[in-house]
Amino acid sequence: MSDLIGDIVASGGHWQQVRRDLHAHPELGYAEHRTAALVAKLLQEWGVETHTGIGGTGVVGVIRKGNSERSIGLRADMDALPISEANDLPHASTNPGAMHACGHDGHTTMLLAAAQHLAQASDFDGVVHLIFQPAEEGKAGAKAMIDDGLFERFAIDEIYALHSWPGLEVGQFGVGPGLAMGSSNRFYLTVNGRGGHAAMPHLTVDPIPVVAEIVQAFQTIVSRTVAPTEPAVVSVTTINGGEATNAIPTSCTLSGTVRTATEEAIDVIADRMQRISEQICAAHGAEGEFRFVRTYPPTINPAAQAAFARTAMASVVGQDQVFDPEGAMTGEDFSFMLQQRPGAYAFIGNGAKHGALHSDRYDFNDDVIPFGATVWVRLVEQFCAR
Ligand SMILES: [Zn+2]
Ligand SMILES: [Zn+2]
Repeated sequence: MSDLIGDIVASGGHWQQVRRDLHAHPELGYAEHRTAALVAKLLQEWGVETHTGIGGTGVVGVIRKGNSERSIGLRADMDALPISEANDLPHASTNPGAMHACGHDGHTTMLLAAAQHLAQASDFDGVVHLIFQPAEEGKAGAKAMIDDGLFERFAIDEIYALHSWPGLEVGQFGVGPGLAMGSSNRFYLTVNGRGGHAAMPHLTVDPIPVVAEIVQAFQTIVSRTVAPTEPAVVSVTTINGGEATNAIPTSCTLSGTVRTATEEAIDVIADRMQRISEQICAAHGAEGEFRFVRTYPPTINPAAQAAFARTAMASVVGQDQVFDPEGAMTGEDFSFMLQQRPGAYAFIGNGAKHGALHSDRYDFNDDVIPFGATVWVRLVEQFCAR
């Protein structure tokens, strides 16, 4: 294990305070004003060139050392989730209805700890971009930063991100080539029929059995349309229709999510859902309005950058503590950044006892901060030496 961990552990109380302060003041996507201001203030205190307001509330810090133009981007997300915290902690959320339930308070803190070390103590020959992005949770803050010129304003050769992961122990990391996270997409269907008395169904076009049939048919998409070797998910998560036991409603709606490992599978599934919806509706004399929304593309790690990240992690915690994760069908907007530049999306073990991601009891594990910060620093130093 590295001396650097020792250094950061020595200042660990400070970083724990920063992390808990962020946890107590969670802010939803694009409203990370306090968080972004704190990030910018600290970066400026350390003499880091700081750019604010990128893609809304995004912040980019730039540290140059030596003469090399080699340039690496490190990304942390800053936003919280619209969840009411159930923890009774001294640093529990003071912002009702918002909570750091995905560990982004920890991601921000780990990148800040690395930034201070890189600015003040580390010797490397190259350029580091510290990217603090807004709105990872469903609002595509990464894309907002890209659309606001992230890669035009800053020359970034490769880009990396770390996400806390309760499935790994503290001191463990996960990174591998290929699928890190699935694409994330939403669908909405409204089935319009003709309402009437429940005792005279022959005079109506009942949307309820139509929706039931469509839900069943959707279940055949992954099993019969997508190749068995390819992971994909179709989940219907809401159904709404009807108000009375003795009345057939005019319409019924459903919605849900689709996750895939490839862009091509999104096209195949969206097309099949559209046809199932329209044609089952037509068979019953109803009309279907189907809408498919692509949220995030799949997060795919190129093999070379995944291997490089693995080497940097192994140099901190040892080969046997770095795992090749299976990939999860949860979504991640870092995928937009990986479409622009090679890089890797990696996991940092958070231990099990701090709860599951997106749970109202999740609390980022402060013991992880030195490991994450050290891996960030090591990644930069090894990248610039490469
Ligand atoms: Zn999340
Ligand atoms: Zn997250």
